[in-house]
This record gives sequence, C-alpha cells and structure tokens, in this order.
Amino acid sequence: MLAEIITIGDELLIGQTIDTNSAWIGEQLSLIGIKVHQVTSITDNEKHILTALEEASKRVSLVILTGGLGPTKDDITKETLCKYFNTELILNAPILEHLKERYKAFNVTFSKVNQDQAFLPKSCTILPNTRGSASGMWFEKNKVVFISLPGVPYEMKGILTDEGFPKLKTHFSTPNVIHKTVRTIGVPESKLAELLVDWENSLANHNIKLAYLPSPGFVRLRISGVDTNGEVEQIIIDKLNELPHLIGGYIYGFEKETIEQVVGNLLINQNKTLCTAESCTGGNIGHLITQVSGSSAYFNGGVISYANAVKINVLNVKEEDILKFGAVSQQVVQQMAQNARKLLKSDYAISTSGIAGPTGGTEEKPVGTVWVSIASENKTISKIYRLPYNNRERNISVASSYALNLLRKEFLED
Ligand code: AMP
Ligand code: MG
Repeated sequence: MLAEIITIGDELLIGQTIDTNSAWIGEQLSLIGIKVHQVTSITDNEKHILTALEEASKRVSLVILTGGLGPTKDDITKETLCKYFNTELILNAPILEHLKERYKAFNVTFSKVNQDQAFLPKSCTILPNTRGSASGMWFEKNKVVFISLPGVPYEMKGILTDEGFPKLKTHFSTPNVIHKTVRTIGVPESKLAELLVDWENSLANHNIKLAYLPSPGFVRLRISGVDTNGEVEQIIIDKLNELPHLIGGYIYGFEKETIEQVVGNLLINQNKTLCTAESCTGGNIGHLITQVSGSSAYFNGGVISYANAVKINVLNVKEEDILKFGAVSQQVVQQMAQNARKLLKSDYAISTSGIAGPTGGTEEKPVGTVWVSIASENKTISKIYRLPYNNRERNISVASSYALNLLRKEFLED
C-alpha cells in the first residue's frame, strides 16, 4: 500500500513556509501501515497541479494533497481538482450554514469570499473541517483515492485525524502495524548499534525492524512489525524487555516521553521540589521544565546567574574561587547548586556553567566544556561534559538535557 503527498503553495518553494505537513502526514500514515513513496512540493499553478496528480496516480493508490484551499485568488486547488475529476463546484447548503454560524460566533460579517468556501466539487465526499472554513475533500478515480486538505497544519491534522484516517483504514483495510519507541540519552548511535548487534540480529527472525533515530544528545530506537497473527505485539514486548540488560543505563523513557517529563514524574512521585542556577544554559533548563503542564507542583524557580557578579552576590559563590578556578569549574558549579537550593528552599538544585561557544573557548576549556552539579540535602555531585559541538544552540540544548538526565540518574541511585 503506497501513498504520495503533494504539498501545494508558492510559499513552500521560496522557503517562506517550511513544509511540515508532509512530515506529519508521512509519520501518521506509517503508523497505519501506509508507506509514503514520494513527497512533491509544487507552486499554486494549474498545470503543475494537474501534472503532479496525473503522475502520482500512476504510481500509488493514495494521494494526499495539502494547500491552495484558501478563499483568495492565489489558491486554485479546488478549481483545478474540478478540472482533473471532470466535475463542477456546487453550493453545499449544510456547509454554508456551518460557515455562517461560525462567522457569527466570531462576530465577523459573512462576505461573498466566505460564501465561496461552501462551493465544493460535486463528485467529492466532503471531509468536514470543524477548525476552519476550507473543507477536506475525498475523491476516487480508477481505484486511486485522493484527499485534498487545507494547508494550515492545525486544520489539516484535525480533518485527517477526525475523518481521513478512520475512512482510510476501512477503505484500504490497512495492516495492523505496531511501533514502539525506546528513548536513550547520552550515547552515540554507533555505540548503541555495537551493544545491540546480537539483539538486532534476533529481530530479523520475527520480521521485526529496528530504526536508529538520532537527534543531538538522544537516540530513539523505533521497533516495528506487522501483526498478522496477533502474536507480533507480544514478541516486540518480550524483545523490549531484554533491552534493560543491554543498554539500561541509557534508556530514559518510551514513546513520546521527554527527559523533562520523566524528571517531573520522578519529582512528583517522591514529593520533592527542584530549582535551577543556570549560567551557560541561560534559563533553558527552567524553560524545559516549565514546558511540562503541572510543573508548578515541583519547580520552585531559578536564578540565571550569567554574570560573575550574580554568581557572587545572589548565589554567594566565593569570589576567590571564581578567580582561582574560573567560572567554569567544579568549585563554582557546586556552590551554585548548593546555595541556590537553600536560597530557593528546594529539595534539589541543578546548576550549569560552561562554554557554549562558538567563541570563548581555551585550550584547557574548549567550547562544549560544561560543568553540571546536582545538590540535595546530604549530597552534591558534579560532572564535566565535553560536548563535541562548535554550535551554541546545540551545546545549550544538549547540556540542558544532560543536566536533567544527571538528576534522573541521581534519583535512581537514591
Ligand atoms: P492554504 O490552504 O494554501 O491557504 O494554506 C494556508 C497556510 O497554511 C499557508 O499560508 C501556510 O502558512 C500554511 N501551509 C501551507 N502548506 C503548508 C505545509 N506544507 N506545511 C506547513 N504549513 C503549510
Ligand atoms: Mg496557499
């Protein structure tokens, strides 16, 4: 079962809008066992759209299009689809009513342009859009299914989730594909592959596939199989249960879990609070923690002690230690954590001090050198990381994740 995605819009081809629609659709289709064979981005041009439709329909049995359904003149997908499917636009009374009510609720006058959104191709099945004014459309021609969706990601996702995917599952009786994700941190994929070589080979006997999906600081392991006999899911679960013996120290979570969620859950379960004292991460750890809904239950706050004066005056770091060892040192990062913990009356404190770069590195402390410390009532631990990046954003992001992971490990030991 193969599919293609066609994203339509001038803005996509001049780099003004990044095509995130095809990435999302590709991921979702793979979850229901439909393989995306090609993604094509084209301009709002009738000839380009007609050619793309014609070519895709020869290769696959499902074509999903996004974009070009707006009410303005630059959007021409709907008219072009009428040409391709040899049909015409007709007024759809229920959609017209829905649109009128929608505009009334927003207190906006209903214009001729808005009314045009209720004119839809006669031969299509409408996939209602409860989040916007452009309806989704389902066409069939020579056994190929075509789904046309608005470009706005929120609306496109809504229509597919509510209407498109359920209809696709029954129309094509898609296979039961099982995906499980194991999340690791602080280990390169090459090392993981080495540790997992026998385990990975054993998967092939069961027709189970493994993918390594790296991002800075992390590697996701995605295990997938097609459940034809109702047994594959259990085999995958059994295989996953073997992983802690092989790579347990690197696994921090599963499926969509983030390190900040995992740390948050640990704090909640143990009824503990956390604060931060950040230098090189500039508040990013606090930002990550507060991305998690409910974090107010355990996060007290933080000090962004970027300048030495703030380290000294707010966090009571000894000035002579900064002069003697430098701001990026174990002595300093330790005092930052210990004193922030007291100042912000928390059970735990995380502190960071490092060189994010790309400037500011020395031979002794090159760019990517980061000290992290975790303080609790009876214990302070510190660790130096030598991150291999000459990129500021990456150093900040990876240092933040590693700092959170150090706290996670501390919990596991306590
Ligand atoms: P349209 O349906 O063409 O009116 O698209 C409306 C808006 O959706 C555009 O202005 C873009 O910001 C956004 N958009 C369109 N296509 C995509 C895409 N492939 N990925 C992400 N956003 C998109
Ligand atoms: Mg457009």
